[in-house]
Amino acid sequence: MEKIDDILIEASRCLNCKKPMCRKGCPIATNIPTFISKIKDNNFKEAYTILHENNLMSQICSNICPVENQCMGSCIRGIKGKPVRINYLEKFVNDWANQNNITYEVPINKVSNKKVAIIGSGPAGMACGIELKKSGADVTIFEKEAKCGGILEYGIPDFRLSKDILTNLIDKLKDMGIKFQTNMELGKDITLESLKKEGYDNIFLAMGAEKQSTYKLTDEKTRKYP
Ligand code: SF4
Repeated sequence: MEKIDDILIEASRCLNCKKPMCRKGCPIATNIPTFISKIKDNNFKEAYTILHENNLMSQICSNICPVENQCMGSCIRGIKGKPVRINYLEKFVNDWANQNNITYEVPINKVSNKKVAIIGSGPAGMACGIELKKSGADVTIFEKEAKCGGILEYGIPDFRLSKDILTNLIDKLKDMGIKFQTNMELGKDITLESLKKEGYDNIFLAMGAEKQSTYKLTDEKTRKYP
């Protein structure tokens, strides 16, 4: 884990802007100045809570988000110098919480009694499952592969995202009451009709874009596609 002094120095670089461009650059509008201000106060637990209230996938995002084009790339400090290393701070908070067994209890607001099937356990499926579960829905995620996570499991190498982080996230979702069924392929093991017959009120398709695109490289001499 990073040295706390280094973390505090980095956090102290944040200007706590009134109009935080970093937040504008974040696709999920993470409350960046507030979580950083909690780090400055040495209140890492509160920083962790702020991050997780908004995004249960905080640890994953801090490892794989293209921050140069998002929060960090939008930081006002970057105009004349180096931007605040927001992902470095977010990563620290998550690592600190793991090491100290700090967890975030997701509040479940029982306003829905819907039974929902989600097809695909990648980031979209999990994010949808989290939000629906927060409203009290009965959520089952179906995954065609043997392991859950979609691109997080099968598309991102270990050196960029440790599988432990993904396992922790899936365990967190299970603790919330989200069910997972693996080796269940839509069109083979289950169909939209069979799910409706099983009583699912809603079905969310989150299978992702699996077909890879090919590089449009031309042959240097002929200028034709090989
Ligand atoms: S834009 Fe940069 S300096 Fe301003 S609040 Fe965000 S991280 Fe801090």
